Amino acid sequence: MDFGIRGKRALVCASSKGLGRGCAEALAGEGVHLVLNARGAEALEATATEIRDRYGVTVETVAADITTGEGRAAVLAVAGAVDILVTNAGGPPPGVWSDWERDDFIAALDANMLTPIALIKALVPGMMDRGWGRVVNITSRAVKAPLAALGLSNSARAGLTGYVAGMSRQVAGAGVTVNNLLPGSHDTDRIRGLDAHNADAKGITPEEHKAARVAGNPVGRDGTPEEFGAACAFLCSRQAAFIVGQNILIDGGEVNVTL
Ligand code: NAP
Repeated sequence: MDFGIRGKRALVCASSKGLGRGCAEALAGEGVHLVLNARGAEALEATATEIRDRYGVTVETVAADITTGEGRAAVLAVAGAVDILVTNAGGPPPGVWSDWERDDFIAALDANMLTPIALIKALVPGMMDRGWGRVVNITSRAVKAPLAALGLSNSARAGLTGYVAGMSRQVAGAGVTVNNLLPGSHDTDRIRGLDAHNADAKGITPEEHKAARVAGNPVGRDGTPEEFGAACAFLCSRQAAFIVGQNILIDGGEVNVTL
């Protein structure tokens, strides 16, 4: 299937590794030119070089913290008028429900709610003027089913989800779709870090923790950034024009719900 987005331009945030990189690679595979971002310049440049060499698209990079106003300004200055926005940032630290104080919540809200909203507000008006656009927010399965250790994620991502539910219906008539992709457990640095944290709390090895965790997944393994990225590229396709304001789980069926 030709996704019909060859030659379009995308900003993919937090994309030197993991799920953001998976999205960037899948878009590059469809012929989309990229602006990539991460804080660490070395991994970012290495990823950009690999994607350029493999897919022949242009790849610009901005090493900056996307969760700060300064970082976003630097990214937006390079991005200019993009057709596709993929929002992403690191996830908040784990803990228990009584751990977090106001500053912890503000940091999580900044990273996982207010940053994507700021990027949407900056870039969607131009997409509407041009009559075409796609926004995909990387959120979490925590939106559908709370994760005990990730109360900060449960909270901040719920806020973004509510905002997108409302705004996506207001911009769809101008040819701009906004949707959320909800990762379950995918094989990235983030899930390896969480495995180490949870294994430590239980007094077992990270490998033992992972084995028990994936045994509870209907597919019996973690997802891959490539699988996640393919779903993102489809949501950005010409064919996905009628998918608006949805929250799509990519989790191997792990969240046990009917709808
Ligand atoms: P990852 O493998 O740790 O990759 C994170 C990427 O984001 C890296 O490129 C990192 O580069 C960049 N990044 C982190 N913080 C940033 C910031 N403030 N500004 C710019 N770039 C930043 O993580 P992942 O697994 O892909 O997770 C991506 C998102 O999905 C996270 O919010 C995570 O909580 C969520 N999620 C993941 C899973 C999963 O199973 N993997 C499940 C549910 C939700 P630098 O460190 O160099 O900045």
